[in-house]
Amino acid sequence: MQTADGAVRAEEILRNLPRINGTIPMYAGGEWMLATQGGTRVLHNPANGRAIARIAEATEADAETAIAAARKAFDDGPWRELSAADRAALLFKVADAIDAHRDEFMRIDTLNGGKPLRETEYDAVDAANCFRYYAGLATKPHGQTFDVPAPSQTFTVREPIGVCGQIIPWNYPLLMAVWKLAPALAAGNVCVLKPAELTPLSVIRLATIFEELEFPAGVVNVLTGAGATVGHAIAASSLVDKIAFTGGTKTGRSIMLDATTNLKKISLELGGKSPNVVFADADFETAVDYALFGIFANAGQVCSAGSRLVIERSLHARFVERLVERAQKIRVGDGFDRTTEMGPIISPVHRERVEAYIATGREEGARLLCGGNRLGGALAGGNFIAPTIFDRTSRDMRIVQEEIFGPVLVVQTFDDEAQAVALANDTVYGLAGAVFTQDIAKAHRVIRKMRAGITWINTYHPTYNEAPWGGYKQSGIGRELGTYGYDAYTEVKQINVNLDVEPSGWFSP
Ligand code: NAD
Repeated sequence: MQTADGAVRAEEILRNLPRINGTIPMYAGGEWMLATQGGTRVLHNPANGRAIARIAEATEADAETAIAAARKAFDDGPWRELSAADRAALLFKVADAIDAHRDEFMRIDTLNGGKPLRETEYDAVDAANCFRYYAGLATKPHGQTFDVPAPSQTFTVREPIGVCGQIIPWNYPLLMAVWKLAPALAAGNVCVLKPAELTPLSVIRLATIFEELEFPAGVVNVLTGAGATVGHAIAASSLVDKIAFTGGTKTGRSIMLDATTNLKKISLELGGKSPNVVFADADFETAVDYALFGIFANAGQVCSAGSRLVIERSLHARFVERLVERAQKIRVGDGFDRTTEMGPIISPVHRERVEAYIATGREEGARLLCGGNRLGGALAGGNFIAPTIFDRTSRDMRIVQEEIFGPVLVVQTFDDEAQAVALANDTVYGLAGAVFTQDIAKAHRVIRKMRAGITWINTYHPTYNEAPWGGYKQSGIGRELGTYGYDAYTEVKQINVNLDVEPSGWFSP
């Protein structure tokens, strides 16, 4: 599509994705299908604006088809009857297949989402390891027994919830899908997954792996389409038992309302405005380095981004000077260039949203220290924004309170520990937060007072499949990853056995 160079590269990278009449189809009930009304969407490379593929755009009717297939697979299919060991064996094979095609997955996500290869490489490695973690976990859960009065015996077992609707954003296209699918499948559920409309390609490639490995029909279904139609249909359907969502807080609220139809189980991983608190006694270069990494990794399009630098006044001038010097050196460009450190914004629409926040910051009276502009020249065709830092902010500014989801850092200054904690907690969000100091007691005091679900001391961003992920306050409900993530895809059943098989004697015979 479009120029020869763009067409050749996209075609080569997407060579293993299925096509029906030139359109990439969706996957439901073990079949590849186009949208019932023939709707399609053209996808673009965010680094240069070129069209890369056309994909089916599902309708509500398509969502119903996929949900019915999943329902049948759960209620009547062989999946639930498989032993945990057999499910685990299949999931280990998915992990191996992701590893075997790592380079392809990396390139698909870089093409479709603009992320630099160094980031999509991390995503692909982690995706395989996430499947491995949950494959290993599938055989480990066990129930509890209870010391109840004889002749009763009472114990619990964990069972799958059933049909799980899963809706994900565009910032980690492969990894977010895997965080949802791996624990759900390990626990014996079936899935109807909707990738973000802008970045469905690596998930479609993943679906070809489920097909090749002969997962039973209807166990994994992938619907490509818009949130307001397909996402809403999944969240509202009475045939869906659980909804797991990652995305914006506003969307999360609407999904929660939809889920009331049949009181679905619900997990929400939402937005953030996370504080990165730096004390004057921090290791200077380490703190500067992680302050940059915290906000400019993935061009700030990270739910847990350290988008507020909360810095001790005595260090402020020196720290900010070094931060700006290094921010201006970040190599922004096409993710396929191995020297690129920061890629584009996902879409022209989102770039405009970020730019509107930058304009607001100026109007609110914050001082722009660097960036704030689009990048031109060779990058003019893409959605690039220079790394941007605002200083002299106040707590009531919109750029301080609202999630921008772009490469925009705001600086806040504190005088003592109590004020640092107060500023750290001063938004409606509570996803993540970090503290930099060489005083370990102070680090722990501050972290324990931080109202956030994921916290770091002297680092920013490390994420492990083994450890729980999720937010306090309006950053979400529930936890993904680790054993918490597995439990969220199970129901607990109490089984009570009467060992003395006699009538109760409660009523007269
Ligand atoms: P978004 O909420 O706009 O969209 C996320 C998904 O929801 C997409 O698949 C979209 O199609 C779908 N959707 C949109 N409207 C819907 C509706 N009414 N009903 C059902 N589904 C609907 O978010 P986004 O712009 O794709 O992603 C950015 C957001 O995701 C940020 O707020 C970010 O913080 C958040 N995020 C959170 C985490 C986390 O783990 N907490 C991780 C990544 C991203």
